[in-house]
Amino acid sequence: ANAEELNGDDMTNRTYELDRAHVFHSWSPQGSLTPMVIESAEGSYVTDDQGQRFLDFSSQLVFTNIGHQHPRVVKAIQDQAAKLCTIAPQHANAARSEAAHLIAGLAPDGLEHVFFTNGGADAVEHAVRMARLHTGRRKVLSRYRSYHGGTQTAVNLTGDPRRWPNDYGADGVVHFFGPFLYRSEFHATTQAEECERALAHLERTIQMEGPSTIAAIILETIPGTAGIMPPPPGYLEGVRELCDRYGIVWIADEVMAGFGRTGTWFALDLYDAKPDLITFAKGVTSGYVPLGGVIVSDAIYATFADRVYPGGLTYSGHPLACAAAVATIETMKDEQIVEQAATLGTEVFGPGLAELQERHACVGEVRGVGAFWALELVADRETREPLAPYGGSSPAMNEVVAACKKNGLLPFVNYNRIHVVPALNIGIDEARSGLAVLDEALSVGDAHVAR
Ligand code: PLP
Repeated sequence: ANAEELNGDDMTNRTYELDRAHVFHSWSPQGSLTPMVIESAEGSYVTDDQGQRFLDFSSQLVFTNIGHQHPRVVKAIQDQAAKLCTIAPQHANAARSEAAHLIAGLAPDGLEHVFFTNGGADAVEHAVRMARLHTGRRKVLSRYRSYHGGTQTAVNLTGDPRRWPNDYGADGVVHFFGPFLYRSEFHATTQAEECERALAHLERTIQMEGPSTIAAIILETIPGTAGIMPPPPGYLEGVRELCDRYGIVWIADEVMAGFGRTGTWFALDLYDAKPDLITFAKGVTSGYVPLGGVIVSDAIYATFADRVYPGGLTYSGHPLACAAAVATIETMKDEQIVEQAATLGTEVFGPGLAELQERHACVGEVRGVGAFWALELVADRETREPLAPYGGSSPAMNEVVAACKKNGLLPFVNYNRIHVVPALNIGIDEARSGLAVLDEALSVGDAHVAR
């Protein structure tokens, strides 16, 4: 039978069976996968093939910042498709020009040019390439507990277990520890101590590696998948100062933290420090069409004013993606979606998650800002032993996640953490109902806590 002749149930089976027969999935053993079939999505909800609706507390992979199927962005993509689906990157095009103008307008002064990519990893690749050519140096420093993408340089820079099976040598990459008070590498007990000692450790790393060999330091402004750890006040300012002292380019990776997630346009806006390069992707189009890029400082732009930039992509600044970006940013402005994210943080998630921490023994810490929160689940609050090992899962975590799904909530899960990262325009009542499901699921986790 061809697809048109099949009824609903058969169509579902066909989708699942063809997936299992022919789709090779990311980051997974292929043989044991049982992917959920999603039929539709709208706003903060996705619906599976059984008609069950889930409240999406993950924004998928933290990218549907304005929710699913926003009509204004869908229409902008349709209109652009009718007008001009595609054009090569060497031509100027209205959608691309407008997107670059809007994105540069959101970045700090002095970062005025945008190099467009297809997503986050290739943005990181190009930011590193620019930094290496600009400085004439090769090494790049990045922190443990970070994610920068799945391509070769980006995965080498990554400081999480996804790097391990992909690491064929350093490729000029050196890792260091960043600030994370709850699991401090520096025996710190206050944020001020953690900040000071993390900066001293970074400076020692620079000195030991040889400052004249280091092109760049790349940091997620607020590390995302690795645990949503907002840096203590003064840390990024200190990184800026070290970069200036040693002639190093600072790359701020805003792929996950950017485009309103933190209740500000960029997570950087929460701090008083300006990077040389900013990488972005995900929320810039709410993921409706893939787009990423690098926002370039005037000094690095000047390096390539008369010298060829040796890099490019067939689809750099693709008109469909750029039209989606323009509509997403304009919608976020007109509907005050960034402000809504800030309100969610102060009115719902800040107090609501603190309450869950008080009530549940398995919640060791909650941290975050805006619509960007992590719950650190532990088997023992005293020792802070995680409820699943670093890089792994556990029956206890699986039970908590199953309890969320059973009650219609899709959480974002990484090892021993649950992240609360919904669409920025989720309704206050919807957000509260998600927390209520989480509340019940955490009781399942409490049963695994040492008394
Ligand atoms: N950088 C950060 C901070 C990310 O969170 C991600 C993806 O999760 C990437 C880079 C890679 O982006 P992509 O998967 O679009 O290549």
